[in-house]
Amino acid sequence: MPPKLDEFQISCHRGRVTEATRSASPGGGTPDEEQLVTALRGAGLRLTAPRLTILTEVWSHPHADVDTIAAAARAKLGSVSTQAVYDVLRALSEAGLIRRIEPAGSPARFEARVGDNHHHIVCRVCGAIADVDCAVGARPCLEASDTHGFVIDEAEVTYWGICPDCAPA
Ligand SMILES: [Zn+2]
Ligand SMILES: [Zn+2]
Repeated sequence: MPPKLDEFQISCHRGRVTEATRSASPGGGTPDEEQLVTALRGAGLRLTAPRLTILTEVWSHPHADVDTIAAAARAKLGSVSTQAVYDVLRALSEAGLIRRIEPAGSPARFEARVGDNHHHIVCRVCGAIADVDCAVGARPCLEASDTHGFVIDEAEVTYWGICPDCAPA
């Protein structure tokens, strides 16, 4: 049986999302459950078993798609509808705890590495995705040749190629 996390009522602390997320992983590794609870609380989200389970899954399997996340949630919690998984993913994304990426031709993927301007490299053959750090270390990573008067806060780059597993020997 999952813990009855629904009984917890967490007060709202909006606006501290980035700090909450950073403190969830001080060493850069996967945070433990207590740190993820703190991150949910810091983002102003009520603590529920599906939210904690799905946030944990996104942390441990970066760039997982919804089907993978739903399967992991069901393995831990029993029956969880796909719609419920989508709802949790949307709530976590809107709270800034996870980030949704959608490379062309791929279903949406989710990752817990937020608040930086990292990019992705995608294998054209198997669809494997890896993180690529921002080239200059700050957003926007790329200087636009023409800003059209916009104040630019992000440059999203997708590199495409062939991963080592798919490269011909
Ligand atoms: Zn590949
Ligand atoms: Zn990433």
